[in-house]
Amino acid sequence: MDFHTKSVHSTSKEREPIKSKTSPIYQTSVFRFDSLDELEGFYEGKSPYLYTRTGNPNTDELGTAVAQLEGAPAGVAASSGLSAILAGFLSVVQSGEHIVAADDVYGGTYHMLNHELKSMGVETTFVDFRHEEEIRAAIKPNTKLLFSESISNPFLRVEDLKMVAALGKEFGLKTMIDNTFATPLLLKPYQLGVNLVVHSATKYIGGHSDVSAGVLTGDEELIQKAREKVVNYGMNLSPFEAWLACRGIKTLALRMERQSSNAEALANALKKHDGVKTVYYPEVVSPEGKGAIVTIELSEKGNHRTFFDALDWIKIVPSLAGVETTVSYPLGTSHRALPPEALEKLGINERVVRISVGIEGANDIIAQFEKALDTALEA
Ligand SMILES: *Cc1c(COP(=O)(O)O)cnc(C)c1O
Repeated sequence: MDFHTKSVHSTSKEREPIKSKTSPIYQTSVFRFDSLDELEGFYEGKSPYLYTRTGNPNTDELGTAVAQLEGAPAGVAASSGLSAILAGFLSVVQSGEHIVAADDVYGGTYHMLNHELKSMGVETTFVDFRHEEEIRAAIKPNTKLLFSESISNPFLRVEDLKMVAALGKEFGLKTMIDNTFATPLLLKPYQLGVNLVVHSATKYIGGHSDVSAGVLTGDEELIQKAREKVVNYGMNLSPFEAWLACRGIKTLALRMERQSSNAEALANALKKHDGVKTVYYPEVVSPEGKGAIVTIELSEKGNHRTFFDALDWIKIVPSLAGVETTVSYPLGTSHRALPPEALEKLGINERVVRISVGIEGANDIIAQFEKALDTALEA
């Protein structure tokens, strides 16, 4: 099936004699049993649901739908992208073991690895995943997992997924990729040999900035372990949030195509503008598009505060992936906690702006940025 067909139909399930076109929301914390035999039936695997923390039709629908889009055998939903990432880590590593991760991973993930997991006895070495030799050099006898992102933030480095998968196989390690920025429309890491693929469904899968959710997909056995972590640590997603994310999936392909083509048009226009020093936008991602995030470094000739003030309907929003075009300021938000040397190394300064391109008309988006850049140069 075409990705468009899949994204519309992977979320439609008929379970009941009452045939609602959309899935009902099972907004219940627990399920009912009419007899002790029926209750016993749950433990014998005859009925799937007992208590929402341990399983709910809406959260299962989300996990399964994203797994289908990734071409992975199994998936589990969690209360946020970070909890899905944690469930993934804990399905592979234990105290005393080691992870090799990319040095430019999402700030929340970095903090989880460098503080929380560290305090539980899991060590992480952060290296530049552009250099295979650096990854090889960081692998130790107790290493269990390689972790990176398919498209990095904010400079949109595109991961060599086949290289990561091959290294995992060579050293007998599991591999895990955060595919949030690419979405399975553009990249399908599982199909390239990666074991676990995780999404912040808060971003493109939900797509409307109205839900916090995460999904982990991958090998059956690992997802089963991750599901136990979600249940035992209480990282379950609420049924309504799962329902919203499933609704988002139906338009994922349309939104991503439109947002990616808008982003490419914007990146090309910004390259020509005097007010922009550098445009970061991937050269190649997939035939379906190159993603919907464009990062720019403003020219020293302009005033960056004036630039933000002059953006009229484009608002400062410290997240991404909604249908509206928004800008974020990495120095003041996502990378705020980093020491000056780390900022310098990553290339983040007060002129770096990350643009999350929406579904509006490309010409309107471009005109809005050109006006703000002109104003910043005049200031
Ligand atoms: C937002 C984000 C996360 C964290 O997701 P939450 O839903 O906020 O927990 C993880 N990875 C990437 C790439 C993200 O953009």
